[in-house]
Amino acid sequence: MKNISTEAPDQKTIVSFLTRYKTKMKLSLKVCAHCGLCAESCFIYVTRGRKPEYMPSHKMIHSIGKLYKKKGRVNWETLEEIKEIAWKRCVLCTRCYCPLGIDIPEMISLARSICRSQNVLPDFDEGNEK
Ligand code: SF4
Ligand code: SF4
Repeated sequence: MKNISTEAPDQKTIVSFLTRYKTKMKLSLKVCAHCGLCAESCFIYVTRGRKPEYMPSHKMIHSIGKLYKKKGRVNWETLEEIKEIAWKRCVLCTRCYCPLGIDIPEMISLARSICRSQNVLPDFDEGNEK
């Protein structure tokens, strides 16, 4: 669903989500060693040509990581990009394995919640990204 509002996203609500989970999320983003070991456990990565944008860590960094990096100050365009990652590149199957214990689906799920809070949602008739 494309958000047609001309107003900026509700930053207060976004920040409240980020603040609630800040300790765990920021720690996970910090300790990620960018080792790529989580990649092979993600069937989306494996079945879509092993492209970097499908790596679990990449999806985590460019969705919830971006929201923290920008301290919630994101525009609609950025939220749309995050939506694409959080829904079309991840199904929250919880199969990705990180030896450092980073819970990637939990992080992507938070990115979804933030998009949902701004009514930035995938269209039901949208197919999965190829
Ligand atoms: S999430 Fe874990 S397995 Fe994946 S790159 Fe980061 S540290 Fe490595
Ligand atoms: S939860 Fe998302 S990133 Fe993890 S294995 Fe499933 S589809 Fe891949």
